[in-house]
Amino acid sequence: MRLLPCLALQQSLLILSAVFFSACGSKAPLASAVTPVLQPDLFDAERAYRETAELAVLYPRDAGTPGAEQAAQHLRARLQTAGLEAFIDSFPDLTPTGTQTFHNVFGRLPGQGRGLILLASHYDSKAGMEPPFCGANDSASSSGVLLELARLLAPITNLPPEILFVFFDGEECVRYYSELDGLHGSRHLARQLVENGKQNEVQAVILLDMVGDKNYNITIPQNTTPSLVRIALDAAEAEGIRASFSLYRYAMGDDHVPFLAAGMPAINLIDFEFGSAPGRNDYWHTPDDNMDRISAESLGKTGRVVLRMLNTLIQPN
Ligand SMILES: [Zn+2]
Repeated sequence: MRLLPCLALQQSLLILSAVFFSACGSKAPLASAVTPVLQPDLFDAERAYRETAELAVLYPRDAGTPGAEQAAQHLRARLQTAGLEAFIDSFPDLTPTGTQTFHNVFGRLPGQGRGLILLASHYDSKAGMEPPFCGANDSASSSGVLLELARLLAPITNLPPEILFVFFDGEECVRYYSELDGLHGSRHLARQLVENGKQNEVQAVILLDMVGDKNYNITIPQNTTPSLVRIALDAAEAEGIRASFSLYRYAMGDDHVPFLAAGMPAINLIDFEFGSAPGRNDYWHTPDDNMDRISAESLGKTGRVVLRMLNTLIQPN
């Protein structure tokens, strides 16, 4: 992640209410009337915290290390346990030090209708950090939330869009962000979607990053699709945490960027004030990024907001 200075249930529990049209003359098609309503309160924040902790102990897990491969296998296993079709896409990519192999991890929930929603996180941690740096917030927290979302959504078989849970490798740069350094996994997937002609099916890319800080303060970067900002802020409002969401003063170079660049709607829910005082970010990429700095409560807030966003996105207009 970097700042860009260029711009100022299980099924029975989750599927609570099918929408039934009344008999008073409505000509609405019955088949489209059944869209599940996801229940935000079923997001288990403690489970998300445990998932976060289980990934955080796998360090270092920067791209190209045995730890990264172990983390990828761990994530795939967790997605499989959740009941999703899970797979790893391993691919070579150029880096400043030569070609390296990266591993994107996927969990797929097929949809019944059209559209594709990506729920994304990166799981690699910053390279070259002093122990005991474990990347609890950056990147285990967002991955933990995603795994809990996967557990909740996996049993649902009648969502209209396909949901793809994506765990990117190689988000962190080794030196400076460039076409050769950083965002490897997201650039690869965005390219694949374009090459397969699927980019127009993408309704939303919801990227989570650094979402576990006890002092919860989501700073949505400037380079985010405005309609998704509206949906996120409305979701935060409905969740009663609107004051914890703001539009950041900068654009950010993060995994949502390759999708934006390819014309896909994308948002980055990130708390880039991860530090010792309000507005500071001094725990970021330091050994202070550990499990003591994050809370289940913050993970829960993120998970519930994402579920509310999904409800808005999947409802027929
Ligand atoms: Zn980072």
